[in-house]
This record gives sequence, C-alpha cells and structure tokens, in this order.
Amino acid sequence: MRVLLVEDNPILSRSLTDALTSAKLTVDCMHDGESADHVLRTQDYALVILDIGLPKLDGLEVLRRLRARRNVVPVLMLTAHGSVEERVRGLDLGADDYLAKPFALTELEARARALLRRGHGQEASLAQCGTLIYDSVDRGFTLDGEPLALTPRERSVLEVLMLRNGRAINKETLSEKIFGLDESVNADAIEIYVHRLRKKLERSSVGIVTLRGLGYLLEARTP
Ligand code: CA
Repeated sequence: MRVLLVEDNPILSRSLTDALTSAKLTVDCMHDGESADHVLRTQDYALVILDIGLPKLDGLEVLRRLRARRNVVPVLMLTAHGSVEERVRGLDLGADDYLAKPFALTELEARARALLRRGHGQEASLAQCGTLIYDSVDRGFTLDGEPLALTPRERSVLEVLMLRNGRAINKETLSEKIFGLDESVNADAIEIYVHRLRKKLERSSVGIVTLRGLGYLLEARTP
C-alpha cells in the first residue's frame, strides 16, 4: 500500500519513512506543500500523512484543495504541539485524524493502520476469498489455515487484489498502487509477481485469473 508523507523536517521525515517502510508500506515523501499538491493530483495513495507547517503551501491548503477535488483518501495531520486552532481547522477541512508533535512512532503506526483499515471500507479487519484470509491488522495472509509466506511485493499485489472484492484491476492501476514514485517501474514486474503468486496459490481453491481487457481478478475456484 502506498502512503504519501509530507513533512519538511528532514530528521522527522527520515524516521517516519523508516517506521512506515518497516510496517511494509511503500512511502513517497514530499518536503513542501506545492509538490505534495502536485503529486496528489496524479497519484493514488491509501493514506496521506500531512504536516501543517510546510514551505510554499501549508498543509491546510493542501488538504482544502484535495477535498475540493472530492478526493476521499484518509488524511492524518501532524500538528504543532498545543495548536488547537490548527487541529480544529484541519478536522473542519476534512482531515480524518491528527497527531500533535511530538508523538511516539508506535502511535503514528497505530493511527495509520486504523485509517488504512477504514479506507478499505472494512468494518472487520478480515477479508476472505475462498480459503485465503487476509488480516489488515498485521497485513498477514493465511491459506487453508496456514500462514502464507510472501515477499513484501507479493504481499502488496495480493493485498490490492484481495481488497478489490471480486473486481478486476488492470496492470497499470495495479502498478500505480504498488510502486513508489522514485522506483523505476517495469510493467513486466507486475507480471512476475502475479506469476509467483499463482505458484504459491497453485494447490489451493483460490486463483488469480486474467480477464482480457480488464486485468487481474482474485477468485475462489469452484470445486
Ligand atoms: Ca513542518
């Protein structure tokens, strides 16, 4: 899952990026409001972590523009300590949650996870397709009751397919959801991940089918 982090403090943005990356998320990091606004117009994110005090364009204006485009991506604001006004303004503009600086990384991770779950429109943290079960709390998969071993990329691909809830997704959209901005994207890479996933799902009741003109679909095979 791709996350956009907008934070101008280099030390903080580095440690947040590390924390999010070790939580198996793909992180794009922007350091000013203008580039954040730009990238939000073209890229698809599962979560935006947005500092308020930013050069060029402040976080509140980035948020206002985002919601004006009817983009409903979950937004977690980072506010200055004690600034009630900022917080209220942000929530009024459509932020989903906020954290006042300084905060513990574990708290940021917990709130990010909660927003990512909500973003999927899932009440429960579990999603299921046949005997494949996905738990969005730890982002783990089990297949026929056994944990399924996956590389980070395979996990991301399978996660996107699972959360489509039976709808197909084309290769381009899938790779946009998987790869960060600074990664050189090879369209064939998606095919490789899908190929490996098919191998891992081979002897189960679940498969990834290719629908001509529509893309990939995760489905339970009828026995
Ligand atoms: Ca700042």
